[in-house]
Amino acid sequence: MAEKRKVTRKKIEATNEMKQFMADYYYELDHAAKTGEKKVAWCSSVGPAEILRALGFLVYFPETHSAMLGATRMAMDYIPHANALGYTPEICSYLTADIGAFTQGVTPLSKAYEGIESVPKPDVLVFNTNQCRDVQDWFSWYSREFQAPIVGIHTHRGVMDVTESHISSIANQMENMIEPLEKISGIRFSMDELKRVLALSRECSDLWKEVLDTAAAIPSPLTFFDGTTLMGPAVVGRGTQQAVDFYRVLLAELEERVENDDGAVEGERYRIYWEGMPIWGRLRAHSELFAELKTCVLASTYCNSWIFSDFDPEDPFNSMAKAYTELFIVRSDEAKEKYITRMIEFFKVDGIVFHDARTCPNNSNCRYGMPQRLEVKTGVPALVINGDLNDLRCLSDEQTNTNIEAFIEQLEEQ
Ligand code: SF4
Repeated sequence: MAEKRKVTRKKIEATNEMKQFMADYYYELDHAAKTGEKKVAWCSSVGPAEILRALGFLVYFPETHSAMLGATRMAMDYIPHANALGYTPEICSYLTADIGAFTQGVTPLSKAYEGIESVPKPDVLVFNTNQCRDVQDWFSWYSREFQAPIVGIHTHRGVMDVTESHISSIANQMENMIEPLEKISGIRFSMDELKRVLALSRECSDLWKEVLDTAAAIPSPLTFFDGTTLMGPAVVGRGTQQAVDFYRVLLAELEERVENDDGAVEGERYRIYWEGMPIWGRLRAHSELFAELKTCVLASTYCNSWIFSDFDPEDPFNSMAKAYTELFIVRSDEAKEKYITRMIEFFKVDGIVFHDARTCPNNSNCRYGMPQRLEVKTGVPALVINGDLNDLRCLSDEQTNTNIEAFIEQLEEQ
């Protein structure tokens, strides 16, 4: 039997700064939406946030809001309300939970931040289909609801090598957004401002990468479960000085931990890579389960998705087009397997957990033989667990826990 014992989870001190960052972010949005002092743009999580910031918009990300619905386990109460509108339980449970909650006038923001009663009303909704088509359908629903304009970028999918033709097509779409967005924001586009914002976004991305890379240390100073919350500023705050400042503080803390051999999991014995979406409503339970097994889930494709190393302030449109198309989720299985192989080596991983998220085929990479191919290629064993990002009805806790324990036992035997 894999050895199991009760553990106390180690707190990352910078979490307090992160909570303050998120509070400031949501209060600023709320104020703007209530007073009209600034325009609000809704943006998909890997959409062109830098263009929006450069045009003076405050940027709101519905996916982060829906992850809150998942983490607070409110999602299941509201998914049926979206189902009743014809959005089936089989599609993205971020979409269904978010729309369902909106129809009932509910938001987890009210519980977290006193005085915020609803999500901020959009002046425009902007998506990029680089991650999936669901964001387009999701934003279209709100566009009809708020009678607000919607603008989108349509990205190629299943891309092996990102070529010049991919880049120029996406860069053109980005440039074509400027005129309609200028009209909505009432602010004239400035290339200098875009370069400034993009430089900040690049700095945020570089720092976030350095944060995640500290997990290569043995023992790792952070877990994937820490990363899913610490990534908040990289998602919603990229392009701002505040996000850069936060990651400097966090990085310093983690570097100190590395120096002191202070691992996130006491007595770390096994190192796991997480492939796929988090199960938001089980973050704590999974974090404790793995820690009890002296196993550190230390790296993931998911947290790495907000690393945009190709951003170049000297060539904004082409470099944004490249970075937003080179993302893992956009790529072919062959490119994805090469990427995961590199991650296995870099993070010195003993095993991979693939999360097959029922309502997100786009972020579930275990349905076409990838775990098996990678196992043959790298010799690193894989486990597939069935679940979902938000809809906990797709998950059997008992089965998941048994499978994880058996998997760690298998690593022990090896
Ligand atoms: S990538 Fe998956 S979880 Fe994210 S919006 Fe698309 S379908 Fe939903």
